Amino acid sequence: MRVLFATSEVFPLIKTGGLADVSGSLPSALQHLGVDIRILVPGYTAVLNALTDLHHLAHLAHLPVIGHAELLLGTIQETQVKVIVIKAAGIYERAGGPYADANGLEWLDNPVRFGVLSKVAAILGGPNSPLTDWHPNIVHCNDWQTGLTPAYMKLVEHAQAKSVISLHNMAFQGCYAPSWLPTLGLPSTHFNPEGLEYHGQLSFLKAGIFYADSITTVSPSYAKEIQTPAFGFGLEGLLSKRGNELKGILNGIETKEWNPKTDPHLVKNYSATQLAGKKQVKAALQERLGLEINADAPLLGVVSRLTHQKGLDMLAPIVPQLLDAGCQLALLGGGESELENAFRHLARNHLGRVSVNIGYNEPLSHQIMAGSDMFIMPSRFEPCGLNQLYGLAYGTPPVVNATGGLADSVIDTNIITYKNKTANGFVMSEPSSASLLHCIKQALNVFKNDADAWRQIQKNGMSQNLSWDKSALEYLAEYQKLLA
Ligand code: ADP
Repeated sequence: MRVLFATSEVFPLIKTGGLADVSGSLPSALQHLGVDIRILVPGYTAVLNALTDLHHLAHLAHLPVIGHAELLLGTIQETQVKVIVIKAAGIYERAGGPYADANGLEWLDNPVRFGVLSKVAAILGGPNSPLTDWHPNIVHCNDWQTGLTPAYMKLVEHAQAKSVISLHNMAFQGCYAPSWLPTLGLPSTHFNPEGLEYHGQLSFLKAGIFYADSITTVSPSYAKEIQTPAFGFGLEGLLSKRGNELKGILNGIETKEWNPKTDPHLVKNYSATQLAGKKQVKAALQERLGLEINADAPLLGVVSRLTHQKGLDMLAPIVPQLLDAGCQLALLGGGESELENAFRHLARNHLGRVSVNIGYNEPLSHQIMAGSDMFIMPSRFEPCGLNQLYGLAYGTPPVVNATGGLADSVIDTNIITYKNKTANGFVMSEPSSASLLHCIKQALNVFKNDADAWRQIQKNGMSQNLSWDKSALEYLAEYQKLLA
């Protein structure tokens, strides 16, 4: 089994969100299962800097717009997974993020940047590959950035490898003007609803869903939800048509990276059987963030993109009531400026009780995850969500909305689930501020009045096997089915 795992971000080389975490850990778990896997990633400056052992692998010609590119081969030290990097300075080596500049404006040449990524993946899976000693039999694509790969494989490269596309978030589709078709070397004869077209535009994601041999998404609930208008972002019809080839596999977490027993970002490590260390982590976090150092004050943690999806606009208006109930809030995130400002305003008005850090900060994200008493995640939709899984692993029970991967991983605390020791968090009845407030108050009730029950809920989450072991086996089964 040889798999090319094509992705636009991979931890620890470059990360904006959950896709990077999955791209960092799933290939590693598959490698442990004996899969010969290589990651394909654009040669952003950060990637070139992070991989110290890069060496020449091959030259590629006839790429859209840029013509030539070089392929380099390196290894992620932490996991020993091999990475093929597309070196193309003109489109990838620049300051800013993988999708947007420092001001959050999308790169105008994203169709080229990800068209090239898609094309290279397709070439490597087909008869025109310049690699002589390694030919994948599966090309595993991820999200819209590699959505054109299955189309190139079928329509242009006549690739022998099978293609899988994993949907990490239907909200991002990569839709561009039809004039990009000839520029990207795609046949205009396939620009119709039974092909590359989506409402008059070229849709990278739709192309992936239409032409891939198999479709996966990152939780069983999300697999069902995206076949409905409320969650399918217009592609629900196509997804339900392809329902037989669509499978939901819940993400795991990288337990080397996210483990309170070994996490180097914490002042003290701890475990389910030695929870005392978590108190020290909380005190250190309160100190670092300028919050009142108070072990009894319930500390609510948030690490998130600040977007409509994540539902934190439901949290902002109820913060005063939560503070009245004795809570503190530690928020780390960035995104929509209105929401950033609302939280900044709360922090200014409640010094010592509300801490807001706007920006991206990996160590602080670990410290908030570990030092908080509960993790707040009221997402309106959530394909899988990793932060609630980190919350479970860190003894920080998540408070979540019942959607997608949150519904598949967080079990609400009630008499039955408490007795059978499955309760691991708190689940809202609907996505609203009132429901979020009610749910947090239920959690507070246990936290403040029943320390034993709280510890049990923490332990239930911490003792779950959240690693990739099981999910990686499911991906492997999916590959095997395609090759059978
Ligand atoms: P999504 O991919 O939709 O943003 P996930 O919960 O699946 O959401 O994954 C988010 C990942 O990004 C987690 O690893 C989380 O810790 C991280 N993250 C999000 N925002 C920040 C931030 N501001 N600073 C550090 N890490 C962040």
